[in-house]
Amino acid sequence: MLLNNYDVIVVGGGHAGVEAAAAASNMGSSVLLVTMNLQTIAQMSCNPAMGGIAKGQILREIDALGGGSGIITDKTMIQFKMLNTSKGPAMWSPRAQSDRMRFAEEWRLHLERISTLDFFQDTVSSLLIKNNELCGVKTSMGFEINSKAVILTNGTFLNGLIHIGEKQFGGGRMGDSPVHGITEQLIGLGFDAGRMKTGTPPRVDGRSLDYSKMTVQRGDEKPKTFSFIPDEIPFLKRKQANCYMTYTNQTVHDILKEGFDRSPMFNGSIKSIGPRYCPSIEDKINRFADKDRHQIFVEPEGWDTVEVYVNGFSTSLPQDIQIKAIKEIEGFKNAKIFRPGYAIEYDYFPPTQLKNTLETKLIDNLYFAGQINGTTGYEEAASQGLIAGINAHLKCKEKDAFVLGREEAYIGVLIDDLITKGTEEPYRMFTSRAEYRILLRQDNADERLTPLGNKIGLASDERMIKLEKKKENILELYSYLEKTSVLPNEINAILEENETPKVTQSTKIATILSRPQINLDKINTLAAVNKLLENNYSEEEKEQVEIKIKYQGYIEKEKDNADKLIRLENINIPNSFDYSKLNSLSFEAREKLNKIKPQTIGQAKRISGISPSDVSVLLIYMGR
Ligand code: FAD
Repeated sequence: MLLNNYDVIVVGGGHAGVEAAAAASNMGSSVLLVTMNLQTIAQMSCNPAMGGIAKGQILREIDALGGGSGIITDKTMIQFKMLNTSKGPAMWSPRAQSDRMRFAEEWRLHLERISTLDFFQDTVSSLLIKNNELCGVKTSMGFEINSKAVILTNGTFLNGLIHIGEKQFGGGRMGDSPVHGITEQLIGLGFDAGRMKTGTPPRVDGRSLDYSKMTVQRGDEKPKTFSFIPDEIPFLKRKQANCYMTYTNQTVHDILKEGFDRSPMFNGSIKSIGPRYCPSIEDKINRFADKDRHQIFVEPEGWDTVEVYVNGFSTSLPQDIQIKAIKEIEGFKNAKIFRPGYAIEYDYFPPTQLKNTLETKLIDNLYFAGQINGTTGYEEAASQGLIAGINAHLKCKEKDAFVLGREEAYIGVLIDDLITKGTEEPYRMFTSRAEYRILLRQDNADERLTPLGNKIGLASDERMIKLEKKKENILELYSYLEKTSVLPNEINAILEENETPKVTQSTKIATILSRPQINLDKINTLAAVNKLLENNYSEEEKEQVEIKIKYQGYIEKEKDNADKLIRLENINIPNSFDYSKLNSLSFEAREKLNKIKPQTIGQAKRISGISPSDVSVLLIYMGR
């Protein structure tokens, strides 16, 4: 280990840390990853799955920019599903069940292949600050390591406190020590800190379950990949793993209720707010008292392990209650518990203290990424790590910052939401958070972001060449379908079969395809289409053409709206701007604008409490 003068030090090897370290080092910075335990790099603390609604879109965006999480997910998935296919393409969200152990192993190997990345196993105990300038970190073994920039990605470890029933003990997650001192130092430096909580379900021995009592949940027949440049995907060569579904019942609920007086959730031991959309089972039966059952998804943790994740049964009730209740779930009569469920409270830093590069406003060259910013989820963490890693590198090399707009990426929405609105409960991404979701689809993430990733030196030229070829093919297929017509006698039988009105005259194939009942597969018996498809367009290319034809009107409208937003985003506000002088702003607006210090009028507009008239005042002051 060099132990000195790195460009960037990344603290923590979780989902944010690995992306940050890979991005900064792949772009050419010398990087040191300091993490408490090199054995737990990219450990999935909770469910063994990547992607899902809106999270799948983020994963594809990370890949399109040149990040690693999509590639690693492809290499280690055991089941793939495209969620929401009954809805429009803006909602399609890829999700993979992952092999937990392989996922961590592949990430470690991926990082070890980067020559400008060094590793050190130790706990960072404080930041090194001399003459008010950040110059590196100090570790608990007493090493002082210098760097130009530091990225903190401590996850749930800062003053982490684990709860199981009345038991409470310090931990960053089960089996790992908590980290003390960093929060206290940052507060001393002027940062605000808060406390959040999250929880996880028990893991059980799959050999003790009776799957015949559950409903099988299979993967998609035609699984896809997360990466736009898929490597060899071992999983495509074997049968996908099955998941299963079962339910809780009234007996389970009654047993769980017996433990409520010893529940840290209900007896006041846990004071912090948890993720609203991942409630514990005790929370569910308490809040939805009229429901006599709740879904439980039984998910294998990997190809070669018997350990199973009990999705939907997150709990911090006493262990005896957990064991007694779980055995009453259909199929779980003989269940043996590997690890109990638990809740954890940890410190976070309200993200309004960050710039849009994820650098802190208070200390130059200090970046925060991941759960430390009040988010929840691997994908949210990974995408922040990627952006922090990119920007730490760019700043070290005195290059322009890299920022994604809300109209460009879910990652742009995520960071803008965090730095503008902050969050008082664990923040997770949803499609509803994005105004322009028809533009931000999972299928076009490469078109949106690979050119940007390539320009900053992260996405490879190989990706760009692949993208250019794909765009050419899409254009060729699209133009052909736009100008080629079919006669009623060629198409009407197909239209009738698909319960859509017949045509009476020669009609362009694109017009036929714009009908919701019709897709390319349904008309591939037409001579004109058949001949063309022989040209071997990929499934992705065909899908893109269909989307372009079917949703063109919506896409154009959203592009117009996005252009309006861009105009406001292009009006910068100087960081030193003093809002207190603007008496025509409301008092609330002056207070909030001075606190958050938005970087553009667009960002100012999104701060809660800023009215359209406040925005007009700002526009006048900025000379518009
Ligand atoms: P982490 O993955 O926590 O990684 C932090 C890393 O930093 C670790 O490797 C740690 O060893 C290292 N580290 C910390 N401090 C130091 C230091 N001072 N020096 C050196 N190394 C350090 N997400 C969901 O989406 N849904 C859920 O239901 C859910 N439940 C969860 C339940 C539990 C019990 C836990 C612990 C997490 C849960 N999560 C859940 C959150 C998910 O695990 C995180 O969002 C994600 O892992 C955050 O990534 P991260 O990189 O920010 O932090």
